[in-house]
Amino acid sequence: MSSVEEYRTKCTFCSVQDDIILKRKSTKAAFFEKGSLFKLYYDEKSKRGLCPRGNFTLELLNSPYRLRKAELFGEECSLDEAIKGSVPELKRIIEKKNNVAILLSGNHTLEEAYLAKTLSNELNTELLGLFPFEDEALLSIKNDFSFNSLSESDLVVTVGDVFSISPTLARPILDARSKKRGNRLISLDIIKGRVSLFAEHFNVKPGYMSYFLSVLLNFLEGKSKLKSNETVAGVSAMRIKEMAEILKNSENGQILFSNIYGHFTNPYSIVGKLSSISEITENRFAVVPLGQNSLGVGRIIGDFNNKKILDVLKAKKIEGLIVLGGDPFEFIPKFEDIFGYLNFVMSTVFFKGSNLSECIIPSNFSFEKKGSFISLEEKIVNLGEPVPPVGDAISDGDFISILLSALSGSEAKARVSIPQGLSFIKETDNKMPSSITDKKYPFTAVGIGLPFHHDRGEVSRRVKWNEQKNEPYVFINPCRVKELSLGSKVKIETPNGSSVFKIEDCSNLPFDIPEDMIAVPVHFPESAQLFLCDSDSDGIISPGAVKARIVK
Ligand code: SF4
Repeated sequence: MSSVEEYRTKCTFCSVQDDIILKRKSTKAAFFEKGSLFKLYYDEKSKRGLCPRGNFTLELLNSPYRLRKAELFGEECSLDEAIKGSVPELKRIIEKKNNVAILLSGNHTLEEAYLAKTLSNELNTELLGLFPFEDEALLSIKNDFSFNSLSESDLVVTVGDVFSISPTLARPILDARSKKRGNRLISLDIIKGRVSLFAEHFNVKPGYMSYFLSVLLNFLEGKSKLKSNETVAGVSAMRIKEMAEILKNSENGQILFSNIYGHFTNPYSIVGKLSSISEITENRFAVVPLGQNSLGVGRIIGDFNNKKILDVLKAKKIEGLIVLGGDPFEFIPKFEDIFGYLNFVMSTVFFKGSNLSECIIPSNFSFEKKGSFISLEEKIVNLGEPVPPVGDAISDGDFISILLSALSGSEAKARVSIPQGLSFIKETDNKMPSSITDKKYPFTAVGIGLPFHHDRGEVSRRVKWNEQKNEPYVFINPCRVKELSLGSKVKIETPNGSSVFKIEDCSNLPFDIPEDMIAVPVHFPESAQLFLCDSDSDGIISPGAVKARIVK
């Protein structure tokens, strides 16, 4: 028998699903020594390596913040007690149809998503939704993507800051750009991001990306002409024509879209237009979700339910909420108000944090469970061998199975099949939006992602590397800081809410912040308060940039 335990699995932090290898001396050895602790390796066959977040995996294995015991009504208890203690209240709530909603994170396996669907039937509800909310906008897209063809592409167009959100994609993208003279990398965004440092950058006014793409699409289809002195959403007609030519002339191009909270308005319309542009210009198109397996989980859910769920939560029309794989106090803005009237909230989480749910179950990360995912390449991939879990933590799949059997008395079996993409629900809007800013709110607050943080930061904020920056911060152009005589902290107010932020040194960002913008890293709950967590005109809950002001 080998004296080394080795677990090959996937990084938990994004949809690129990079391979990780965890090794330690066998725990069956007689003595505990240095080698008994896990070490992290990446698969040397993978040229992408791991990004900083991938390296956080080691810390998550034994993090002091991990939740190790279940809790029911604020008291620690066994899993069995927590589940059995929840059943009477759940049974009462589900006597009425659609009286409980389930929110499921995109980090679940396909098997877990099928079980969650079974659970929603048992709980007499159609209110089953996906988070991160931004990923729902991507569910109508079937990716046309492979890592091999990406590094061979003569053109890569990134919409959104792919390098910050999924950092190891930088390697094949930069390889593609340098492969042959004439290969191009285009960054299209509402603020410069990490891709812009290596790319020809096209900056579109915040809130206008969908409209800008409709103009580009119409021009490509020959439906409209552009006047030479015209400017669309901050981009000159000459540059739009240049972009159209680049797209048409590529032989092997790839368009990639990624989004984060507070960034793009109408992302569902944006992906619809990018999909049409890629068809017309014969380039490949793929979306890069935040969740590891959001494409698989969302397709199994099979509908765009998030708006219905947030609407009934805000209108106080349901009594129960089950959140699988996240803390609702962290990712639903102003959840404290909603929590006040809900009768029963159950959540499965990795950390305790400030979660006050009536029933809290300690959950496993993906490297602590078995199962399958859909990859960016649209293949079914296996997670591999799971690392032993911490404390009483269990996979959400096992938790749902036990809950189902406590509710119905019968066993539930997970299945796996390839879920189909969702069809586009409606024609997307082409109208020119009105300007975001006005006299009262002269700035635009734009949500940005950073390579050391994932999504809204529930996990990445709790690793040592990030602990010293544990208060929310924003980036403001240094000239504006001087002109407005701002101190070290500032209150940012938008029509949706306000929060106090530290002003972070802009030299920590490798790109400039325009004078009329406030770049808001979205990995703090305080950041989320600034953005409107409601649907845009495309019907999808996914907050975009908003008007803002600085209150001194
Ligand atoms: S890009 Fe980073 S976060 Fe994403 S899977 Fe790879 S190592 Fe993990």
